Amino acid sequence: MSKVKTSFYCQSCGAQSPKWIGKCPSCGTWNSYVEEIVSTAVQPNEWKSAEKKKGEKANKAQLIGDINPDNSPRIVLPDQELNRVLGGGLVPGSLVLLGGEPGIGKSTLLLQLAVQLKGQRVLYISGEESEQQIRLQVEQVEPGLLIIDSIQTLYSSSYESAPGTVTQIRGCAGELLRFAKETSTPVILVGHITKDGNIAGPKVLEHMVDTVLQFEGDRHYIYRILRSVKNRFGSTAELGIYEMQGTGLKEVPNPSQVLLSQRDLTLSGTAVACTMEGLRPFLIETQALVSTAVYGTPQRSATGVDLRRLNMLLAVLEKRCGFRLAAKDVFLNIAGGIRVEDPATDLAVISAILSSAEDIPVDAHTCFAGEVGLTGEIRPVNRIDQRIREAARLGFNTIYISRYNLQDEIIKAEKEINVVKVSKVEEVFQGLFG
Ligand SMILES: [Zn+2]
Repeated sequence: MSKVKTSFYCQSCGAQSPKWIGKCPSCGTWNSYVEEIVSTAVQPNEWKSAEKKKGEKANKAQLIGDINPDNSPRIVLPDQELNRVLGGGLVPGSLVLLGGEPGIGKSTLLLQLAVQLKGQRVLYISGEESEQQIRLQVEQVEPGLLIIDSIQTLYSSSYESAPGTVTQIRGCAGELLRFAKETSTPVILVGHITKDGNIAGPKVLEHMVDTVLQFEGDRHYIYRILRSVKNRFGSTAELGIYEMQGTGLKEVPNPSQVLLSQRDLTLSGTAVACTMEGLRPFLIETQALVSTAVYGTPQRSATGVDLRRLNMLLAVLEKRCGFRLAAKDVFLNIAGGIRVEDPATDLAVISAILSSAEDIPVDAHTCFAGEVGLTGEIRPVNRIDQRIREAARLGFNTIYISRYNLQDEIIKAEKEINVVKVSKVEEVFQGLFG
């Protein structure tokens, strides 16, 4: 008689250990190991009937010159933001993971997609289902798109662990991957994560799936952002923006206008940055509040931008502009609950800080696009022509950029808007308030 074989798995990253460990050596999470039964006796069932109907895809070797990356047909979705993030539509036979905090709107997004998608049968499976039930449904419906909401609730009898454990998630995802590849049916999996990303699922699945989409945003704000974290079939730089309304999620095709619409133009401490997310330029408002520190240690807080970046910019302002910010609390916020990573936001951030510190408003029709270096130099940013054009289109009459941006990129745009070229943070201060 053989003993039941068990192993311990980190529920956060999927690392395996023969004995229980308090702290995961691979991801550093405490108390994340759970004992799961490892079974090799039962082989996972194959998707035999589905295979027969659609025919197995032959994987034969091809000359690299014969492979045309553009000829992979895509299912163009009715949701333009989703198309953009996926890189032009859904690739048949791809396995897509949509991750995000509970309640952020993942199911809403996919249900809307299922309802709007014309000419394709969509099988939407939600709640706890066993793999046998799903197979039965797939055989009956023969869907053009399969959506599983969520991967944490699936279970397969091939694995003896409880639903939601690493073994189950990995096993079920593996079977769905096989199904997707063998039948050329795209499969979208929903995966829940908590705020610190600690619940099993998305993390262990990331390297199994073709595309990982992250749905993020603050539940208290109406904007949601769809990012691609991994994409075998496209760029990961693209971004989709949605507005959560009472009737569902609405695409935001023109984010600049929406994000700038509720500005009070007479207040100090705000500056508009022209950022790029993917291939799309858009303008966002940065807000800073500089006040005398109440406690001995001044507070520094940043929402929507990296706090370390804010600290670095404050150090530059202190050193290069002689601003005594050491005894000041500094709060920074990106309006609309949006998170930006584009370094071109730097120039707007320091302008907002200076504006708040001096209590002088920045001109409402001025915006900024430049990176700030450690020596206080204003560094050039990419796609400056597109940024300038977007600013001009939205009615801005002045834009601050780096002096080191290539001249021929700017010439054409210069007719539409006043371009101020700066090379040091001191010049920004002079230009704005001097
Ligand atoms: Zn771990």
